[in-house]
Amino acid sequence: MRPRGVAVLLAVIAVVGGCSAQPEDRQEPPAAPSTAATTTTTTTTTTTAPPTALPGPGGTTIPVFQQPYAFGTSQQQAPPVVDGLVPVVRRIETNQPYVFITIDDGAVRHPAAVELMRKSGVQPTLFLNSKHVDGHADYFKGFEGLATVHAHTATHPDLTGTSYDFQRQEICGNAELLRAQLGARPKLFRPPFGNFDQTTRRAAADCGFSALVMWTAAVNDGVVQFQAGGRLNAGDIVLMHFRQTFVEDFLAFLQRCRVDGLTPVVLDDFLVDPKASV
Ligand SMILES: [Zn+2]
Repeated sequence: MRPRGVAVLLAVIAVVGGCSAQPEDRQEPPAAPSTAATTTTTTTTTTTAPPTALPGPGGTTIPVFQQPYAFGTSQQQAPPVVDGLVPVVRRIETNQPYVFITIDDGAVRHPAAVELMRKSGVQPTLFLNSKHVDGHADYFKGFEGLATVHAHTATHPDLTGTSYDFQRQEICGNAELLRAQLGARPKLFRPPFGNFDQTTRRAAADCGFSALVMWTAAVNDGVVQFQAGGRLNAGDIVLMHFRQTFVEDFLAFLQRCRVDGLTPVVLDDFLVDPKASV
């Protein structure tokens, strides 16, 4: 009996081993026609296709995206500052199937955020308030290499109609705190509630920002909400927040990208001049 049991066990190991060389992926295209089998045998055995999904927190499944270009490589730049006013960017003009995810405030320091970003291969742009970062820099330093950090004011006020000095203090002060506590001075600015006036654009330019960034879609309670139409489109900038629903919101965004045939890429690569950040 013993030898037979060993044989069965070896057979099981062989099957498991054979599967483990391939990622769990039912969406892969079928294998190449057998006519090429004899010549491609050596290369196919050494090539491991990247996974299209990975297990996530709480039994979830995280869609995985491959970088279509090396992140950190400039693809476009923001329109210039004109008459002392930063440009207002609502979406990115691109002929590539790219979308952008932004995550605001920082109120809820969700423990699964790093895992979601790392496994998905998606690098968001974070617009953070001083009041949420100050005293919690260690949490936000955890996103180094996984996300970029930009400015969203010190205390999250509605800036419209307020004085230049107040707006400059909120915007420059936020930039300086983020630089001091997280290590890099932000170059992009998003006004709280999306509310701004000409004074905001002037103060943001004077504080050294390259663009004021709005959005074209948002995620709330695990649902992607569109400003127009029923899908995400190339160039859309999507807004979500650091909330208790972080996992549901981030996964809803990723799943929507997959359904709509879009790849999330880094907003900075389309708006920030790398040479200007020195
Ligand atoms: Zn906000």
